[in-house]
Amino acid sequence: MGILFGQCDPSSSVEADSCSRPICRICGRVLTRKLIADVGNSTCSHDIYFCDSCKVGVIAPFPSEEALTRLYSAGSYRMAAGRRFNAAVEFFIRLSRMLRKRRIEKYAVPGAILDIGCGRGLFLDVMQRGGWKVTGYEYDPETAANLSALQGFPVLSGDFALLELPDESFDVITLSHVLEHVPDPSLMIAESRRLLRKGGLLVVATPNILSLQGRMGGRSWFHLDVPYHIHHFSREGLIRLLEGNGFAVKKVRDLDMEHNPFGWLQTLLNLSGVEHNLLYISLMNPTLRGRAFFRKKKKGLILSLALLPLYVPLAIILALVESLLRLGGTVEVHATKQDSVTHDKVNIP
Ligand SMILES: [Zn+2]
Repeated sequence: MGILFGQCDPSSSVEADSCSRPICRICGRVLTRKLIADVGNSTCSHDIYFCDSCKVGVIAPFPSEEALTRLYSAGSYRMAAGRRFNAAVEFFIRLSRMLRKRRIEKYAVPGAILDIGCGRGLFLDVMQRGGWKVTGYEYDPETAANLSALQGFPVLSGDFALLELPDESFDVITLSHVLEHVPDPSLMIAESRRLLRKGGLLVVATPNILSLQGRMGGRSWFHLDVPYHIHHFSREGLIRLLEGNGFAVKKVRDLDMEHNPFGWLQTLLNLSGVEHNLLYISLMNPTLRGRAFFRKKKKGLILSLALLPLYVPLAIILALVESLLRLGGTVEVHATKQDSVTHDKVNIP
C-alpha cells in the first residue's frame, strides 16, 4: 500500500496515446471490458480493464518502466528501515508473520527461502530465527542495500529476470502482496518456478478484485491502491496463472485477518464520505504521515472514530461472510512445483 508516497505520472505512460488500446500482459489480448473507470484523482486517473480469459485486471494507461522505477525508488514507496506503523499495529504485523511461518512449515521443513518484495525484512527475520537460510529481493538497489546492512542477510535487487541465480536454488519462494505491483506477473512466476527445487513451495498472496469488498467498494476499495497495483487479480485468475506455469495448488486461504477485515473497514469509511484512506494513514508512524496530520485532518478523524463502533464488528462479519463464499478481499495460495508445465486443465479449489 503506497498511498502516501510517490507521484503517478500519466504523461510518461507507455499507453498515454489515445490510439493505443489496453492489452493483457499475460495473454496478449486487446482488452475491451472496463471494470472500474476513473480511479485516482483529476491529475492522476486510471481505468481498470479486465481480461475475461485470464481473469485478471490491468490499469490503463500502463506505466512506463521509468515511471515504475520512480514510484519504487528508496524513500518514495517505503522507508528502508524503522517502524512503518504505530506500535500496536507493528505488534500485530509481527504476529501475522509468525503465523505465515507456521502455514509454510505445514508444507516444508526449514531450508532455503527467497522472499520476493521482502519490504523491511520482518518475515525473513522471523524465518531466520526459525532456522531457515533466508534471502530477500527488493527491486530498488538502495532499499535492498539498506535492508541487507540492517538485517545482516542477503537482499538481491535489480531486474528479477536478470539475476542469473542457479536453477533450483530455493525450497520455498514467497510473494506476499507483490505480484499486483509487477509489470509481467507471468514472467515472475515462471522465473520463481525455475528457482524452486522439484516439489518446492510457492506462496502467493494478492488482493482479489472480484471479492465482495472489491465489488462493493469499486474505486473506493482500500486494496485497489492504483497506480501501485498495476495488475488486479481475481481468485480464479491467480490460480490459473500458477497452474498454467507448472504449479499444483495445495491450499487457497480466503480469510486473511491481517488484510481482509481492515480492507472492509477502510472501504466502508471511504464509502461514507470520509477522506480516502484516512484511518490507514492515521495508523502510520508519525514521521511518515507528518506531525501536523491530526490537526489538519481533525474533522475526518472524528467522523471515522464515531463510525468505528458500528463498522469494526460489521467489517469482521463481512470478512467472515465473504471468505465462506470464496470471495475474500485478499487470497493466499500455497502451490508446489510440478515436474512439467501443462497448459490444459485448471483446477479451482
Ligand atoms: Zn489475458
